[in-house]
Amino acid sequence: MWFLDQKDMPDKWYNIQADLPEPLPPVLHPGTGKPIGPEDLAPLFPMELIKQEVSTERWIEIPDEVQDIYRTYRPTVLHRAYNLEKALDTPARIFYKYEGTSQAGSHKLNTAVAQAYYNKQEGIKRIATETGAGQWGSALAMGCSFFDIECKVYMVRISYDQKPYRRILMETWGAQCIPSPSPDTNAGRDMLKKWPDCPGSLGLAISEAVEDAASRDDTHYSLGSVLNHVLLHQTVIGEETIMQMEMADAYPDIVIGCVGGGSNFAGQALPWMRDKLSGKSPQMRIISVEPESCPKITKGMYTYDFGDVVGLTPLLKMHTLGHTFIPPAIHAGGLRYHGMAPIVSHLNNLGLIEARSAHQMGIFEAAVMFARTEGIISAPETSHAIRIGIDEALKCRESGEAKTILIAHSGHGHFDLTSYAKYLAGEITNFSYPEEEVKKALQDLPRV
Ligand SMILES: *Cc1c(COP(=O)(O)O)cnc(C)c1O
Repeated sequence: MWFLDQKDMPDKWYNIQADLPEPLPPVLHPGTGKPIGPEDLAPLFPMELIKQEVSTERWIEIPDEVQDIYRTYRPTVLHRAYNLEKALDTPARIFYKYEGTSQAGSHKLNTAVAQAYYNKQEGIKRIATETGAGQWGSALAMGCSFFDIECKVYMVRISYDQKPYRRILMETWGAQCIPSPSPDTNAGRDMLKKWPDCPGSLGLAISEAVEDAASRDDTHYSLGSVLNHVLLHQTVIGEETIMQMEMADAYPDIVIGCVGGGSNFAGQALPWMRDKLSGKSPQMRIISVEPESCPKITKGMYTYDFGDVVGLTPLLKMHTLGHTFIPPAIHAGGLRYHGMAPIVSHLNNLGLIEARSAHQMGIFEAAVMFARTEGIISAPETSHAIRIGIDEALKCRESGEAKTILIAHSGHGHFDLTSYAKYLAGEITNFSYPEEEVKKALQDLPRV
């Protein structure tokens, strides 16, 4: 295990926009189809975050107040998976950077704290947000409680039912959490009319939270993934890892992370991408992993789409399955999102990252193997990255290559034990790729 001294914790976030070989495509206004300006986003986000969204400064100072809270759980530990390596009988060296030791149990606190801070600075009293598996909602609930901001969370119905303890975490930290679709917004009411048993989706919960924020002056909206400023805040993970890998006298041949909206993957991968872009490590492979049943990068289109179901958000150029697509109810609720971070999509489009998908049964098999060798009960989301890490290590066993594999471990699965119970009882099945639904949803893409 490699511990970093608190005095060596990064005091700047890394902004990949300074180093992209081609700039990101513009974000478009849903009404006019023209690039949006800061004033279009001002009703929803504090100006500091809007500036970060478009900044091309390479390094962005982490405010002292944010660093103080980071120091209650960071730097996080870099592990080497010796026991897993042994069990796989592989010459590969497997490292993982574990974000599950944050109070909220995942990487999400890294941006929740920063977002709550900037909103507080702007005098905002209340924040509305969505959550899938509940990890984002609980992280933001904690962030808001630290800065004395009211927090309302629209939680995707299927996860609300599957993971009741996440709601209790949010409530304990002082937030209000309701299942989405909810009767509290037009977006929610419309869906409930059409489909009373709708399991919900991240895209729909975003519509509800955006509508809530847009309709109140004292309220901003907060997103836990996808946007550039969110990925920026997560780079603290990769910056720490670079120092820790140096301490371990190792350098990754392969970096792997799971992708819902792309934030934990990017948080680990973007600092390494800097080396890849500068020519220091052109051979490095950076692999994103998504569910087979929600495969936006591997099977979606790279085009302009809304971030939410209803079509309230600006248009982002990204890999998408269509904003009206409601993914199957897999246990990795945090990966049930139709779109992908524009930065990750852009890098994928430039051929700088590889994309893979994994089936639900395979990820639980990997999760249980990881638990029995490394001890950690991983989130089902994270287990997608573990699955592909194991697969790559098994390839090394075949080829005899001693590759260095780095897995972004985004969080623990202590609130996902119902899913583990189902797997252990043999009740987990694979959802295949819902081709027909995706075809239908892609017909609803906005024209630009
Ligand atoms: C939210 C979440 C994810 C997926 O979101 P990203 O923005 O893609 O990181 C993955 N793992 C965990 C533990 C999460 O909480």
